[in-house]
Amino acid sequence: MLYHSTNNHQHTASLELAVISGLAPDGGLYMPDRLLRLPKAFLSNMSAMTLQEVAYAVASWALNNDIPADVLHDIVFEAFDFDIPLVKTRNGNYVLELFHGPTMAFKDVGTRFMARMLNYYRTRHPEWTTLNVLVPTSGDTGSAVANSFWGMPGVRVYVLYPRGEVNKIQKAQFATLGGNVTAIEINGTFDDCKSLVEEAFMDAELNDAMRLTSAMSINYARIVPQMIYYFWAYVQLVRQQVDVDNLVMAVPCSNLGNLASGLTAQLMGLPVKRFISVENQNNIFYNYVKTGVFTPKPTQYSIAPALDAGCPNNFGRIVDLLGSHENICRHIHAYSYDDNQIIDTILRTYDDEGYLLDPHTAVAYRALGEDLQPGETGVVLATAHPAKLQHLMENIIEEPVPMPPQLARFLGGEMRVKKMTNGFTAFKRLLLSKA
Ligand SMILES: *Cc1c(COP(=O)(O)O)cnc(C)c1O
Repeated sequence: MLYHSTNNHQHTASLELAVISGLAPDGGLYMPDRLLRLPKAFLSNMSAMTLQEVAYAVASWALNNDIPADVLHDIVFEAFDFDIPLVKTRNGNYVLELFHGPTMAFKDVGTRFMARMLNYYRTRHPEWTTLNVLVPTSGDTGSAVANSFWGMPGVRVYVLYPRGEVNKIQKAQFATLGGNVTAIEINGTFDDCKSLVEEAFMDAELNDAMRLTSAMSINYARIVPQMIYYFWAYVQLVRQQVDVDNLVMAVPCSNLGNLASGLTAQLMGLPVKRFISVENQNNIFYNYVKTGVFTPKPTQYSIAPALDAGCPNNFGRIVDLLGSHENICRHIHAYSYDDNQIIDTILRTYDDEGYLLDPHTAVAYRALGEDLQPGETGVVLATAHPAKLQHLMENIIEEPVPMPPQLARFLGGEMRVKKMTNGFTAFKRLLLSKA
């Protein structure tokens, strides 16, 4: 199957080229030329399968044999080796807990899948001595990507994060790893970190000297594994004999990668009635849905840091999938909340239902409550474990929030960080010194 650029459908690439490059040369995102619709029997057969089996079946279908079956099987079984439970809360809604992976955020699955896929392609290119992964982060992406590639021979990871904007738990998750992971603290903002990485990709000297790749959610290799969440929610509902005829799914959104994955799953035949996109005060997509105009803005910091994106990267994919603004409004209801509303939702849900939401999941939980109609089944995608923002959560609920051992183990390590200004020269020099 061919993949086209969202900027120009005539510009096409193989799966391999799309995954290795991340972005198309014209700056567009890669999307498959066709989405194969799943046979009806497929959905009913899935309810007897394990998560790994469902994941393998969906990924094979989505990637249409463009990667050898045994390779894909290993990638999927390694990436999906933890639970993704569906929990019912007291008000009758469902929460799909995507945060039981190594860094306890939903990005673990997508980045682990992508890392293994990139590594497979690396082994087919002996001319690349190393694959260098550049990743700007405001917290969650850097830790998930670093852990996904950590210890992989032939791969080096550079995580760039803004000084003072990443909390200690998140920082420990990438800065204590060492080995093939380098943590770089930039004296600047998240947008500065992104610009440095973009500049590196455009620098001819760097690209001649070393093989660079990006691990951001623009990579199609992250879209595919995220589709599986939606199928897995469906399978678990069917198993619990819940009505799935009017399924509504609420997604906390930042770069819109997760939402693009959900829509892809729907267009492949997963019966979802509608999606709810939910942002914090960085409400670029919300404004687009309300007005039809897409206007990126500078990023504003919030108490849900993984939602802080002023220019949602995957917007082009949503348009590519759904075509018009009108059709987008038919498939998606959009919401946006500020910090006070997030705090209020966390407190209310904890008091009334005994369920502790992290700030990212809280926005989606609140929107589902406002949007769901009688007779519909609602699922919230829970994207991070509350202990990832332990200090904030404890201030909100005024009770201790225990640290799971999975996160605590990072805090014992020594932080190793290179500090830099936001100028390109020093960053380029560091990269070249490792080439
Ligand atoms: C990345 C992230 C999101 C947003 O996902 P997108 O695919 O960028 O929209 C939501 N919640 C958490 C915890 C995240 O880390």
